[in-house]
Order: sequence, then C-alpha cells, then structure tokens
Amino acid sequence: TNKSDTHLSQLASVGQIAAGIAHEVKNPLTAVKGFLQLLKQKNDEQYIEIAQAELENAIAILQNLLHVSKPDLDDEPFESIDLAAELELLTQLFQDQFYRVSLVKEFEHTGSYIYGKKNQLKKVFFNLIKNAFEAIPENGSITIRHTADKERVMITIEDNGVGIPANKLEMLGTPFYTTKQSGTGMGLTLVFSVVYQHNGSIHVESEEHVGTKFTITFPREIGRIKRKEVVKLDLIDHSS
Ligand code: ADP
Ligand code: MG
Repeated sequence: TNKSDTHLSQLASVGQIAAGIAHEVKNPLTAVKGFLQLLKQKNDEQYIEIAQAELENAIAILQNLLHVSKPDLDDEPFESIDLAAELELLTQLFQDQFYRVSLVKEFEHTGSYIYGKKNQLKKVFFNLIKNAFEAIPENGSITIRHTADKERVMITIEDNGVGIPANKLEMLGTPFYTTKQSGTGMGLTLVFSVVYQHNGSIHVESEEHVGTKFTITFPREIGRIKRKEVVKLDLIDHSS
C-alpha cells in the first residue's frame, strides 16, 4: 500500500502561513483601495460603507488568527475534564444531524481525566469529526475511540473517506489550507494550536480513497488519579 503516516510535531512553516495570511488579507485591502479611488472621483456614501465592510472583514481574519496563535489570551480556566463524557455529548449532536452515517463509538469509560479548557477541547473534536463527515460518502462510517492508560488519554477519529495525499500531509494545520469549495482552512489550525497548548500530540495516518485516522494524545491528569485512589482506599476501610 502507499499508506502515508506522519507525526505532525509543529505547524507548517512560517513561509506557508505568511503566504496564506497575505492572500486572505490582500483581497479586502485591495477592495478598500479601489473604493477609496472611486470615492475621489465621486463622493458617494455607498463607497465608504463598502470600504468599511471590507476593512471589518480584514480585521476579522486577523482576529481569528490571533486567537489561534495565542489561545491562552482567552480567559477560560483550566479544569479537570472527563473527555469520554464530553465526547459522548458531542457525538450525540452529530448523530442527530447525520443519521445516515454510521458513527461507531468505542469509549473506555476509565474515569480518566485530563486538565484542560473544556470549550477549546470541544472545538477540537467538533472540527475533527466535522472533517471526517465532510470526507466520507453518504453511507460512510466514522469510528471514535477513547482509551487511557496510567499516563495518557488517547482519542482516535477514523473515517473511510477520501483520504489525504501523502504530499499534502505537511500542509495540515496551515492557516487557510483547504481543498473544499467553501472551506475556511482554519479548523485544523485551531486543532493543532489547542492540542499543543494542552501538551498533547497529533498523529495522522491516511491513505487516498481508503480513509484517515487522527490520533490525539493528552497527558492524563495525575492529581486526579491520586484522588480517585484515595477514595477507593476509603471505601475498602469502611467495608472491612
Ligand atoms: P476546512 O475543513 O475548512 O477545509 P480544515 O483545517 O478543517 O479546513 O482542513 C483542512 C484540509 O485538510 C481539508 O480541506 C481537507 O483537504 C483536509 N482534511 C482534513 N481532515 C480530513 C479528513 N478526515 N479526510 C480527508 N481530508 C481531510
Ligand atoms: Mg474543517
């Protein structure tokens, strides 16, 4: 097989990111320039409004990027999170929307916790599952697994969709990289950013026309394991 497999340890190169940003911001700014020129020729209020809307567009793009590059700027607190429980809720949302798709859940409810920002993590798995849905045919299938050992919590999202060509794997996570008609190319940028902020890692395996598997690994919250063990000992004490 020509299965490609990569450990993605960092975002794509600065040059690719710069090219993406330049491209996205250049369009609205060029429009503003054009409307200012028109305004010189004819003092029409409409031109000002359009120019303003284009500037707002450019600012929104930059704000989006800023948020992704510095996710700790938001004030969401870190907390203990039972990822299996959160995934259960999230997948229910998808199941209702895409009932034709086979969504297989294999969750080990290990009582394992990770320390993180709940809303950010929800966005991570929302984006990964959404990408899987967008990659598969109507009767495709997506399998989501959750396992944990003493040190790590691992989640895999596997689809039998279009797959990703080997030479495109390194593009994943680059802002604005998309192969979709109406894609934003910001989903995986957010995924990478948040996972790294949580000291996690991302591993991608893909084969064209066969499917794609994302593996996300987080350090397990050690303090929480200790507290659980203490509770267990207490119970034993009471029953003896
Ligand atoms: P978007 O979904 O808006 O295109 P993303 O950052 O979420 O942006 O994904 C970037 C690109 O990575 C997609 O356009 C697609 O080409 C590829 N991709 C991501 N996930 C998958 C997947 N599960 N299967 C196939 N291709 C994928
Ligand atoms: Mg996406």
